[in-house]
Amino acid sequence: MTRIINPKKVYTYHQLSVDIDRLNETYPDLLAVDVIGKSVAERSVFSLKLGSGKQEILVNGAHHAREWLTTTLLMDMVETYCLAASTNQCIGSYPVKDILKQVTIYFIPMVNPDGVTLVQQGPELFLNSCKLREWNNNKDDFMDWKANIRGVDLNRQYPVDWEQIHHDPGRPAPMNFKGYAALSEPEVKAVYNFVSGHDFKLAVAYHSSGEEIFWKYKSTGEQEKYAKKIANITSNKTGYQLIYPTDNPSGGGFTDWFISHFKRPSLTIEIAPLVGPRPVPLSYYDKIWNENKEVPLELANQLII
Ligand SMILES: [Zn+2]
Repeated sequence: MTRIINPKKVYTYHQLSVDIDRLNETYPDLLAVDVIGKSVAERSVFSLKLGSGKQEILVNGAHHAREWLTTTLLMDMVETYCLAASTNQCIGSYPVKDILKQVTIYFIPMVNPDGVTLVQQGPELFLNSCKLREWNNNKDDFMDWKANIRGVDLNRQYPVDWEQIHHDPGRPAPMNFKGYAALSEPEVKAVYNFVSGHDFKLAVAYHSSGEEIFWKYKSTGEQEKYAKKIANITSNKTGYQLIYPTDNPSGGGFTDWFISHFKRPSLTIEIAPLVGPRPVPLSYYDKIWNENKEVPLELANQLII
């Protein structure tokens, strides 16, 4: 069967929308698509529900604009899992169809569709293109942009220790500006509302620099022990190293919020070697795919065994 997702090209918001429709038509019994909110420039923030299990886990990507290869990775997972479940095949040692009967995996493949579009296509598409250039230090090249199109870093927007976030520039910028209030940005509000309305047993936020896993945020005791187990399993699967935070970690991230609020494990997985402030080159994709393709299945499996 011809595959729908082509991971070997620049993955745009438009391609994402087209591919989601095609996946939905191809796998109507396995997949359910929803729009959980709209971006500042009215692009859809999609969720894809895979499976029918009572337990739920969440995998999201592209909070940061230049890290759009995480969207590619998640969409490739969705299609690969659908194909395996519909033909009753295993991926590695994982019986996908059986796992999805017990655990539903939700994907939010592109949290920041405006930012991704800005990185890939430049500022002309946006009504505030002059402001965007100004915030980008008058550069025309937006390859290093991480924020949304209001210059707010969406991974510094969640309501956990938001007041004390480190290195905040205090105004719109390509990265690190936490905004004028937590949850001020519609993309984060969409994720926040969606997650709050579910009962996710664990979550993964995919990012793309350093082949590292962030797993701890001020958790202690049994919560920390279980989180470390989940993090170790993921580290063994990917080969990525675990990061131990300082005593005074900067808050505001999705993972920080999920861990603190729900007292359950969440991982920030950084998928690529350090490549500098730009999107991860497509030439890394096969390596990244092999390291990560089984991660959500393994995490789902942890809830069953
Ligand atoms: Zn990131």
